[in-house]
Amino acid sequence: MSEFSDLYQDLILDHQKNPRNFGDLPGANHHADGFNPLCGDKISLDLKLSAQGLIEDVKFKGSGCAISKASASLMTVALKGKRTEDAEKMFHQFHDMVMGKEGVPAAELGKLKVFEGVRDYPARVKCASLAWHTLEAALHDHKDVVSTDDGVQP
Ligand code: ZN
Repeated sequence: MSEFSDLYQDLILDHQKNPRNFGDLPGANHHADGFNPLCGDKISLDLKLSAQGLIEDVKFKGSGCAISKASASLMTVALKGKRTEDAEKMFHQFHDMVMGKEGVPAAELGKLKVFEGVRDYPARVKCASLAWHTLEAALHDHKDVVSTDDGVQP
């Protein structure tokens, strides 16, 4: 893990130690589970969407490496109060950023920009994007567990 030490910025460590929006969400109406077998990261995501398509609340549970946990925590903070179409847009921007795509307006992602550095660590891209793939599954009510080893790129 030492080669990733430059990724462990204060923000990531803070969210790993004190994950925000961690736990069960009573009244959740969307749910998905994700798994990254390469690292062993697991996430269970609950969403409460309003009839108007607003993410009223979001919580996650799970276990895994610091990157996966911090990414899920920061994602839930970023999602609260957002419209689902804005959440989809953030998912694509985040994914493009960690994949190292050129011209991503990373500044629009706010604190999520902290994960920009994982693009240099291909194995860690899956850790950082697991929560987002799970979000996508929850928004679309996919019942199967999202696996980063199973057709999800990455
Ligand atoms: Zn991981």
